Amino acid sequence: MIAAKGIAAFSASQPLKPYTFERRDPKEHDVVIDIKFAGICHSDIHTVRDEWGRANYPIVPGHEIAGVVKAVGSKVTKYKVGDHVGIGCFVDSCRHCENCKNDLDNYCLEGFSSTYNGTEQDGVTPTQGGYSNVIVADENYVLRIPDSIPLNQAAPLLCAGITLYSPLKHWNAGPGKKVAIMGLGGLGHMGVKIARALGAHVTVLSHSEKKREDALKMGAHEFISTHDKSAFRENQLKFDLIINTVSADLDMGAYFSLLKTDGTLVVVGLPEKPLLIHPFPLVGHRRSYAGSMIGSIKETQEMLDFCAKHKTYPEIEVIEPSEVNVAYERVIRSDVRYRFVIDTSKL
Ligand code: NAP
Ligand code: ZN
Ligand code: ZN
Repeated sequence: MIAAKGIAAFSASQPLKPYTFERRDPKEHDVVIDIKFAGICHSDIHTVRDEWGRANYPIVPGHEIAGVVKAVGSKVTKYKVGDHVGIGCFVDSCRHCENCKNDLDNYCLEGFSSTYNGTEQDGVTPTQGGYSNVIVADENYVLRIPDSIPLNQAAPLLCAGITLYSPLKHWNAGPGKKVAIMGLGGLGHMGVKIARALGAHVTVLSHSEKKREDALKMGAHEFISTHDKSAFRENQLKFDLIINTVSADLDMGAYFSLLKTDGTLVVVGLPEKPLLIHPFPLVGHRRSYAGSMIGSIKETQEMLDFCAKHKTYPEIEVIEPSEVNVAYERVIRSDVRYRFVIDTSKL
């Protein structure tokens, strides 16, 4: 076994604490990764605070992992020692269902192995995530990080980047399309940058005025503060596509009214409680309400290569492992510009 150092949650209410545990020795197709950086996703907070009701402690969170290959199993062909690599939200899937065979392994019909707070495909061995110094994973679930992307900025792409890239591509964001991103946080700011790089007209829908300047600097064409309710009247029937990254309780009807006829609002934010929706604004203009979850391994690689080509990198604040609990509080207060990344080499 490989000794690992990390930070873990032991209950929903206590701060995260240092934790030592073990990773498996590499099997034939496994890659051992020296983790350099791990992003803090709001999903980490929802999970460790048991807001989704499925926490299994202890939990080492972290599914935005960037590092360097340290060792490879005897049959590994994709990677060699020294390569820059990443791991996102899952470390395995069944590999034989219809979705896995069609490069939709993020929607594996038998359930993928989430990077933490899940199990390996044996259904019993717990998985532990990236707030740690080392991880072992099958080479088919490891991503290649292009050398031009600094490793600390590569980390957030593995969840925030792909979670916005996938629906933007699926719903054809591009030239001639008006796209709005709800919430300028970790996910939202990557949505702005990627939608802009895809050639769409981009608007940020933010719940205060505070982030206007940042949004425009990141490439947004327009910024709308939804604090002022007149914004909803003034911007009716404007967007082809809206992506909702917010996990707060919002009046979705007001947002549906911003869509053009046949427009789509895609939800990626995952609130603790259900969102109430009234069908009238959907029915009225044949609008669609849809969801999307991360992206496949193939699409995640495509996204990394796209971001390298367009220099579409996240805005990050690098922190020490000891600062994680303070960082969580700041994420909850929407006081993050725009993704915390833990320097795991300091563990
Ligand atoms: P985040 O950095 O905290 O960003 C969320 C943003 O929501 C905030 O920056 C803020 O933007 C807005 N917001 C916060 N409180 C609000 C309120 N009371 N009213 C209106 N807007 C508010 O979180 P994140 O890491 O981007 O994650 C966002 C959500 O996506 C989480 O629920 C996470 O679990 C989920 N997620 C889903 C997937 C998926 O595959 N579907 C993947 C990763 C994460 P403004 O200040 O601009 O309003
Ligand atoms: Zn995430
Ligand atoms: Zn499958």
